[in-house]
Amino acid sequence: MRAAEIRERFLSFFEKNGHLRVPSASLVPSRYDPTVLLTTAGMQPFKPYFRGEEEPPSRRLTSCQKSFRTVDIEVVGTTLRHLTFFEMLGNFSVGEYFKEQAVVFALDLSTSEEYGFGLDFDDIWITVFGGDEKLGLGPDSEAIEHWRAVGVPDDRIVLLGVDDNFWQSGPTGPCGPCSELYLDRGPEFGPDSDRPGDDTERFLEFWNLVFMQYELQADGSLPPLPAQSIDTGLGVERMASILQGVPSVYETDLFAPLIKLGEELSGKKYGDDFATTRALRIIADHGRGATFLLADGVVPSNEERGYVLRRIMRRAIQQGHVLGIDQPFLVRVCERVRDVMREAYPDLESQWPTIERWARAEEESFSRTLEQGERLLSELIERAKADSTSWVSAEDAFKLHDTYGFPYEMTKELLAEEGLSVDDQGFEELMERAREVSRAGSSRTRATADAGGGEVHVEHEDVMRFAREAGFQTRFVGYETTEADTVLRSAERANGWVLAKLEESPFYPEGGGQISDSGLVETPSGRARVVDVYRVGDDQALALEPVEGEIGAGETVRAVVERDTRLATMRNHTATHLLHAALRERLGDHVRQAGSYVGPDKLRFDFTHGERLSPDDLVDVERLVGGWLASNHPVRAIETTRDEAERLGAMALFGEKYGDRVRMVEIEGVSRELCGGTHVSATAEIGLFHVTTETSSASNVRRIEAVTGPEAARLFQERTQRLNEIAARLKVPEHEVVHAVERLSERVKELERRPKGGPDLDISGLADRAVERDGVFVLAEVLTGLDSNALRDISDNIRQKLGDAVVMLGSESEGRVHLVANVSPSVVERGVKAGDIVRAAAPVVGGGGGGRDTLAQAGGKDPDKLDEALQVARAVVEKALG
Ligand code: ATP
Ligand code: MG
Repeated sequence: MRAAEIRERFLSFFEKNGHLRVPSASLVPSRYDPTVLLTTAGMQPFKPYFRGEEEPPSRRLTSCQKSFRTVDIEVVGTTLRHLTFFEMLGNFSVGEYFKEQAVVFALDLSTSEEYGFGLDFDDIWITVFGGDEKLGLGPDSEAIEHWRAVGVPDDRIVLLGVDDNFWQSGPTGPCGPCSELYLDRGPEFGPDSDRPGDDTERFLEFWNLVFMQYELQADGSLPPLPAQSIDTGLGVERMASILQGVPSVYETDLFAPLIKLGEELSGKKYGDDFATTRALRIIADHGRGATFLLADGVVPSNEERGYVLRRIMRRAIQQGHVLGIDQPFLVRVCERVRDVMREAYPDLESQWPTIERWARAEEESFSRTLEQGERLLSELIERAKADSTSWVSAEDAFKLHDTYGFPYEMTKELLAEEGLSVDDQGFEELMERAREVSRAGSSRTRATADAGGGEVHVEHEDVMRFAREAGFQTRFVGYETTEADTVLRSAERANGWVLAKLEESPFYPEGGGQISDSGLVETPSGRARVVDVYRVGDDQALALEPVEGEIGAGETVRAVVERDTRLATMRNHTATHLLHAALRERLGDHVRQAGSYVGPDKLRFDFTHGERLSPDDLVDVERLVGGWLASNHPVRAIETTRDEAERLGAMALFGEKYGDRVRMVEIEGVSRELCGGTHVSATAEIGLFHVTTETSSASNVRRIEAVTGPEAARLFQERTQRLNEIAARLKVPEHEVVHAVERLSERVKELERRPKGGPDLDISGLADRAVERDGVFVLAEVLTGLDSNALRDISDNIRQKLGDAVVMLGSESEGRVHLVANVSPSVVERGVKAGDIVRAAAPVVGGGGGGRDTLAQAGGKDPDKLDEALQVARAVVEKALG
C-alpha cells in the first residue's frame, strides 16, 4: 500500500465517522503560539480548541499534519523509524468522544482489510499508562478495560510509566495518559524477550492515542478537564514501512527515489556498509526536511527555525562529502523531494523557485565555510605536528564549529586521517554550555507591559484566566468603528491596573505586527486610560489605568479609540501590504514576510532576501508604492474560507493562525493577504510613502523601515528646511546645491595644497618653483593665510634668493585678498613693471592697487579668482619679456 493510499484510507475512515477533514497547517506554528519552534504533532494547530479559547469548526477533526522533530535529528539514519520531517495522521475529538471510542476506531482501522490497514490482530501490542506515585495516579484501568473489551489479551497489554505514556504540554495545563499501538515485527527484528517501549526495533510504535483528561495545576493537583478530549498520531512513513514489507522507513515509496538519487550521485550502494547507508538516509531525510521548511517560508539563518534549517542542510551536504560527492547536489535532492511529494503537497510546485534559490545559496555559502574551515584545520594539524602531540584541543574544535560553522563530525574525520584526535568530552561540555546559554535566551514565559515607566506587569497566565473566567466573548467592533457605547462586564484589580472585559470593544489587540490601540473608557463615575489590549485567542481583555473616579463591572461605558493614532497605524498597515507587493514585484517571489511592526510612528517590514537592496531597487520600490497611492486602489476585507483565499492567491503569511474562516485584505489590483489588521479604505488615504532605512535583520532577512502620511510629510518638511538652509549658506539656489558643494570641496582640497603662511613656510621650496625665461626667474604662487605685509616680506626674501626675478604672490586672509608683485631692478629695465602687473591683475579679484616699478600691491575681495588673477599677472610678464 503506497503512502498516498495510507493517507486516504485514514482520512476517509474518520471522515465517514463524522470527522471534518482539515488540511495540514504550516510547519511554522501560528504566531499566536510562541511555545514551539516548529509544528511537532497533529494536535498543535488545534491547541486553542482544546484549551477552549476558540470554537473549532467541528468537534471531530482529522488531518495529515506535516511535522518536524529536532529532538530526533541525532538518531536519523541510525534507527529504522526516526525522521526529522514526517507526516502525522490524526483523529481528534474536542470534548466529544473519549477513550472507548478512540480505542475502537484505532483497532478497527488498523485491522480492517477492507477499508483499513489490514494488520494482523495477533501482532498488535498495546501500551497503557501504568500509574505514577508522584502524580498520585494509578494505572489507567479504563484504557485497559477498553482494550480488553475489543479482545486484546492481557499479555499483549504492557504498562509503562510517565516518561513513555503520560502526555503534558507544559509545566501546567491539559495533560493525560496515552496508549500506544505497536506492531510485533517478528524475530528478524529482535529477540522474543524485547517488549514495547524498549526502544528496540522488534516492536514498532505506529500510533499513539492521547487522552486529555486532567488540568495540571501549579500546586501539582490534577482536577479533571471540563471537556475531555482525544488527540492521536500515526506516522505515515512507519505505516508505509509496515505495509510495504520493508525494514525501515527509508525503503518505502516515499524514500526509495531519494536513496536512489544519492546512490547515483555518489556511486555508492545503500546497504554496502553502515556509514554509507546512514549517509544516504541522512541526505534523504534532511533533503525532505529542508524542502518542506523552505516551502513554508523558513530561510537559513543562525537563529531559531532558520538555524534548524541551516543545520539540516549543512549536515546533508557534509554527509555528501562523506560519500565523496564533490559536486553541489542539494538542489537536486530538493528537486527529487518535490517530484515524490508534489501530488500530496502542491505547494512544493508553486514554491519551487523559492526552494531552489535558497538551497543553492546555502550550498554556495557552506562550501566557502568548508574551504575556510579546512584551511584552519590544516593550520591546527600543522601546529599539532610541530608540537608533536596527537591531540587537538576541545576549544579549537569548538571554535571551528561555533564560529565558522564547520561540522564537528568533519573535524574529527579529517583529524583522524592525520592520526590526530579531539577531546570529545571537552567538546560535549562546551556544546552543553552553549545550549544552556541559548536555552536561557529563548525562554519566554510572560507577557509584560510597561505602564509609562512604572514596573507594572500583568502575568500572561492571569490575563488568560481572567478572560476565561469572564465566561463570555468580547465582540470586536474595531473594524467598523472607533467608538462604542457598551457595557463593562467584568473587571479585576491587578497591580495598580484594572483588567477589564467589554461587551463590545473597538480596541484592536496587538497582533499581526500591528500594535494595540490606545484610548479611553468612560463610565458615569470614572475614566480610565487603555494601556494595553491583550489578545486571548479570538477574544480580548483590556488593561486600564484609572485616571478619575472608579471603574467597576456592570457599568455602561463609552469606549473611545485614540483616533489619530489609529488612523496613522492604519495607513502604515496598508502601506506594509503595498511594500510587500512592491518588493515581490521588484525582487521576486522568494520575498516573504518574516516579521513586521506596524505602529502610528512608522512601519517596519522584515522579509526574506539574500542581499542588500541597491539604491535603484529602493527607488523603484518607492515609485511602485507611490504609483499605487496615486491611482487610489480600493481596500477591502473579505471573510472567506481558507480554500477560497488560497484559490484567489492570497499570501498566507508565515505562521498564519489556523482556521477555516479567514479574513483576507484585498488591495484591488495589487495584493491579497490574510490579515486581521485594520486598514484604510483606499490607498490614497495613505498620502505619502517614504523608505527611511534598509538594513539587515538576520542572515537572509532584510529590514525596511518606512513612514507614511503626515509623518512622511513632516520628514519631507524637515528635509526641505534643511536643504533651504544649506542653499542659503552656500548662497546658491537649491538646485545648484550639489554643484556648489562639489566646488567647495574642490576648493578646500586646493587650499590644503597651498603653502600656508607662518614660521613653517618653506621659502626655498617656493623659490625652486620659479620658471626661468631668458635669464629671468618668474614665480607666480597662491599662498594662504598671509596678510599684505607678510606677503611683501616673503616676496622680498624670494626675490633676493633668485637674483634676476619677478615674484608675484597672492593670498587670502580673513576674507580679504592680497596681491604683491616684486621685480628686480635689472628686470624692470627689460620693461617688466610691478605696477603694471598689479593694475592688470587686481580687477580680477574685484580690487585695485598700485605702487613702484619694483614693488606694487593690491587688495581684493574674491578669493575664488586668485588663481585667475595670477594667470593674468603671469601673462603681463610674459608679454613684457617678449
Ligand atoms: P518514538 O518513541 O518511536 O520516538 P514517539 O513516542 O516520540 O515515538 P509520538 O510523539 O507519540 O511518538 O508521535 C505519534 C506518532 O508519530 C508515532 O506513533 C509515530 O508513528 C510517529 N512518529 C513520531 N516520531 C517520529 C519520527 N521521529 N519519525 C517518524 N515518525 C514519528
Ligand atoms: Mg520520539
